[in-house]
Amino acid sequence: METMKSLVKKRPEPGLWLDEVPVPSIGIDDVLIKVHKTSICGTDIHIYNWDKWARKTIPVPMTIGHEFVGTVSAIGCNVHDFKIGDVVSGEGHVACGRCRNCMAGRRHLCWKTQGVGVNRPGAFAEYIRMPITNVWYCDTKIPMDVLCCFDPLGNATHTALSFDALGEDFLITGAGPIGCMATAVARHAGARYVVVADVNPYRLEIAKRMGATVTVDTRSESIKEAQKKLGMKEGFDVSLEMSGNPEAMQSILTNACHGGRIAILGIFGQETAINWDMVVFNGLTIKGVYGREMYRTWYQMTSMIQSGLDITPVITHRFHYTEYEKGFEVMRSSLSGKVILNWVDE
Ligand code: NAD
Ligand code: ZN
Repeated sequence: METMKSLVKKRPEPGLWLDEVPVPSIGIDDVLIKVHKTSICGTDIHIYNWDKWARKTIPVPMTIGHEFVGTVSAIGCNVHDFKIGDVVSGEGHVACGRCRNCMAGRRHLCWKTQGVGVNRPGAFAEYIRMPITNVWYCDTKIPMDVLCCFDPLGNATHTALSFDALGEDFLITGAGPIGCMATAVARHAGARYVVVADVNPYRLEIAKRMGATVTVDTRSESIKEAQKKLGMKEGFDVSLEMSGNPEAMQSILTNACHGGRIAILGIFGQETAINWDMVVFNGLTIKGVYGREMYRTWYQMTSMIQSGLDITPVITHRFHYTEYEKGFEVMRSSLSGKVILNWVDE
């Protein structure tokens, strides 16, 4: 049996292990992908740390990781539109294809969706098996580093384009990699002002490079002040919650305009109280966002990059996969944007 290197959650305890596992065998509707680059997601950190969510979600052993780009290495006999060597990425939510939403073409709302690198083997490996439904053909003019971030860029895009952006004023809470990418997407889509709030100056600096009009360190500055500085009188038209912090959610409510629209991507991890009367009296619209739309979001990302969207300032570190501990360490320090692991020599 052929084997490959893979980063495996081997035991139900903190940590991640570089292991030798069988190369996945593929079915008739599958594509075997040789992984070139992966990036580390917050989800991978949860799994590494083996927190409460990971303990109840991840069966061990499990190859983790879901943000990747690679090339087609083998195809099942039902696969006709990919050939060996094509550059591809993959959608990390594998929808069931049969539920009501799937049947209606709303696969991002599948209630039985499976997560790559969560409940099925992931991409932190030399090879990954993907069902044809989840393989995304990449424009080879787009750098591999950028393609490898399409999954989180998709979260940013899906959230930022949830509501009309042209001429609108945006508030983004959380300047993590996704908040920073959403900043660039909102600007690309024609937002007037994008104010980004965080408590981490390193990340606010990245947000500036991604096009934030004003950044706010909420430990010492207020979002109301930022509004004043910009001459805004009525509050933000569109707010994107990308921190998972309940206080940030509160600041979104108090800074939204009447009729404001709010998209929430951040995961609070606990029950969070909000002032519902503000939602009612101010006529706010709130939308929860999970994953990416299949595949509208993927088209939007591709065409935005092709028309000048630049997300490279968010990529701050690159390591060989054998140095994965360093990658996880820098991610955990919060002194990073996206961290890439290389799986092939360049
Ligand atoms: P991240 O954890 O790297 O970034 C979150 C940022 O929020 C950090 O920079 C942190 O300093 C900041 N923050 C903390 N408290 C804050 C406060 N009071 N005000 C403003 N900012 C504050 O996360 P990420 O990878 O960029 O992802 C963003 C969020 O989206 C996370 O909550 C993540 O769990 C969630 N997420 C959701 C989906 C989905 O499908 N819904 C997918 C991916 C990530
Ligand atoms: Zn479904």
